[in-house]
Amino acid sequence: MSIAQRVAALRRDIDAELAACGRAGDLVTILGVTKKQPADVLSEAAQAGLSDIGENYVAEAAEKFGAGGRKFCTLRRHFIGHVQTNKAKAIVELFDVVQSIDRPKAAEALAKAASAAGRELGVLLQVNISPSERFGCPPDEAERLAETVRSLPSLRLEGVMAIGPLTGERPEIVRAFGIAAKTFACVGGTVLSIGMSSDWREAIRAGSTMVRVGTALFGERRV
Ligand SMILES: *Cc1c(COP(=O)(O)O)cnc(C)c1O
Repeated sequence: MSIAQRVAALRRDIDAELAACGRAGDLVTILGVTKKQPADVLSEAAQAGLSDIGENYVAEAAEKFGAGGRKFCTLRRHFIGHVQTNKAKAIVELFDVVQSIDRPKAAEALAKAASAAGRELGVLLQVNISPSERFGCPPDEAERLAETVRSLPSLRLEGVMAIGPLTGERPEIVRAFGIAAKTFACVGGTVLSIGMSSDWREAIRAGSTMVRVGTALFGERRV
């Protein structure tokens, strides 16, 4: 199957899942995760009708997006990797949205870089809902982190991102996504970014508005 066919099939499956859980007509964004895929996957993703892509590594993204990040400007670019404060400037140059704000220092570094660049940066709080995950703010600290982010004028808080338990049994995944949804309800915003290749169905049922899908669309990661 081509990438375009896989995107179309995933779109249909998501719509069927939405209908099956009483969310018919809801819009769920498919974020194509292109990390460790060759650069031409980005143009294929755009041609397949995706509007959003995600990358985890600054150096890899800089190489793939091209000088100044101007290539692929039709795609909304999301940073979904761990935010190192010394990379804040590069992240702001390369990305439209940062989904992985998990501590005040990351928010402050990005706010400073965005403000220096004269732009507003869309951000999500990354919440930790899984013992196997190293990063993310504990759910009970999310509201305080949200206050910090809201106090920084160059950041626009759009919602919450979380990574489900990758080795978990289904009930464990459902429980974890429930925590993400509850945190999203407290934090506010329009984007609940949960669900990946192996658990997007559970995520849709928990209220996901954005699934981040890599291998199911683009195959095994290569580079
Ligand atoms: C790699 C990655 C994904 C995509 O994972 P797949 O299992 O390939 O769909 C989604 N979100 C984050 C944060 C990732 O690092």
